[in-house]
Amino acid sequence: MKLILLGAPGSGKGTQAARICEKYNLPHISTGDIFRENIKNQTPLGLKVKAIMDSGNLCPDELTVDLVKDRLAQPDCANGYLLDGFPRNLVQAAALDTFNAPEKVLDLNVDLAGIERRLTGRRSCPACGNSFHIDFIGDTKNCPDCGAELIIRKDDNPETVKERLSVYSKSTAPLVEYYEKQGKLIAINGDQSIDGVFAEIVKVLG
Ligand code: AMP
Repeated sequence: MKLILLGAPGSGKGTQAARICEKYNLPHISTGDIFRENIKNQTPLGLKVKAIMDSGNLCPDELTVDLVKDRLAQPDCANGYLLDGFPRNLVQAAALDTFNAPEKVLDLNVDLAGIERRLTGRRSCPACGNSFHIDFIGDTKNCPDCGAELIIRKDDNPETVKERLSVYSKSTAPLVEYYEKQGKLIAINGDQSIDGVFAEIVKVLG
């Protein structure tokens, strides 16, 4: 199964992606996670993209497409993949169609008005990669799953969140129409509990 998970920043993509990958045994490919890992390890790629990511803008298309192309060529992607955070614009979507086109595209719909709160209240675990919301975990400092100290992602500050949402509306939202025209788009109501969203996804994927 070759899947894309579309949705605004803060729509719950990462959480659902982890669950989908576990259930359907797919590699979870998050370009954001790959970039963050490179920044953490101070690789040449990480040094190149750090300032861009901190500002909430998109990393260069050519670099991002090459990264995904290499990743999808790995043996664990032979039976499919779940892409989370890629493609982010029409150039990336068209490129993906030339080397490893998706079969289904899940579009996680959420009320954009609530997104700012979702993102600014997000706490992320640098060790296991899960994220949580302060509405659910309160002011606990440690990851409920693995115990590591939680962090606030640098790009989850209010100014950067505004920029990310603007980039989403301008560049990423047009992908909905792109995949709708290809007959691959499946809309999912993202404004329900985590379990509710996942149940809807399982229902459509079978
Ligand atoms: P995410 O974790 O998906 O919200 O991504 C965090 C940041 O990583 C984005 O705001 C971009 O700066 C960068 N990024 C992630 N995926 C892409 C992509 N497909 N194209 C360009 N930049 C990306």
